[in-house]
Amino acid sequence: MYIVPEREIAGLMTRDAAFDAVEKVFAAMASGDAYNFPVVREAIGHEDALYGFKGGFDRAGLTLGLKAGGYWPNNLEKRGIINHQSTVFLFDPDTGKAKAMVGGNLLTALRTAAASSVSIKHLAREDAKVIGMIGAGHQATFQLRAALEQRQFEKVLGWNLHPEMLPNLEKVAAEAGLPFEAVELDGMVEADVIISITSSFDAILGAGQVSPGTHIACMGTDTKGKQEVDPQLLVKADVFTDEVAQSISIGEAQHAVGQGLIQEDDVAQLGAVINGTNPGRTSDNQITLFDGTGVGLQDLAVAASVVDLAIQQGIAIEVDF
Ligand code: NAD
Repeated sequence: MYIVPEREIAGLMTRDAAFDAVEKVFAAMASGDAYNFPVVREAIGHEDALYGFKGGFDRAGLTLGLKAGGYWPNNLEKRGIINHQSTVFLFDPDTGKAKAMVGGNLLTALRTAAASSVSIKHLAREDAKVIGMIGAGHQATFQLRAALEQRQFEKVLGWNLHPEMLPNLEKVAAEAGLPFEAVELDGMVEADVIISITSSFDAILGAGQVSPGTHIACMGTDTKGKQEVDPQLLVKADVFTDEVAQSISIGEAQHAVGQGLIQEDDVAQLGAVINGTNPGRTSDNQITLFDGTGVGLQDLAVAASVVDLAIQQGIAIEVDF
């Protein structure tokens, strides 16, 4: 089997490779070729850690495996390492033998950014010029960098509960040669694309703060109880997701569905748009909303891609197992 350590991922994985891997696996999920296994997530009663597994099988890409990991809140303070820790394990679907073990920390950020980026490619208006960011933490910078590659954006707007973090976004905008403006939430009406990526448990963005024709990617809500936007926004929007079962239980749609404002059938898979079986955006006035909940198959897809690159470049460590 091969080992690709975390320290090698940054030098190997490109945003393009992550985008391609995620776009393909979303398409495979919608066509029934790939499916995610039920997620396990446990408070283990040690170090306040949350640990779990996200796995799946992609029959089209022949990718089988799981991401194991979670959140250790004391890591940074006690040990100087990041709080989110994960590792991806891939298996040979023909034999069940272990195939690869891959550092999953950077890959998680890249696959999450790729998901919103795929949604922008397929759902945002072609003439989108202004992108608005809600959230300015670790993931937000990856999100913004990937999103800026999808349209000819001319300006970045940013709002964050903790305004002292906004320079994180300003720096990414400056790298791309774009002006950055810190705004109040009402200022988001100027945005053609909005990404939310926060740890919020209450709605931040109101339905009246989004203009017709906008595409929104809600990326922060990945657990029961979390929330980033007013459920009325999901009533006004055409709602798409990575996986419907997750969207209505742990994603942004949990609130609108739970309150009976929309039904499960109102949430469509982004993969169906990629495959051409769902028309996606059909008018310039439509609001589209992507509920990105994060699925195991995304992790497996980017990990398989990085293993291929590591083997090609002679970086993968081969062990007899
Ligand atoms: P981070 O700690 O670096 O940043 C957290 C962000 O949320 C900051 O912008 C912070 O100001 C904001 N925030 C914190 N508490 C808030 C509150 N009560 N109300 C509004 N904003 C608040 O975290 P990160 O690594 O950038 O992750 C952000 C979120 O993305 C997390 O909730 C994480 O679980 C989620 N996430 C989702 C996926 C996915 O696939 N959908 C993948 C990875 C992370």
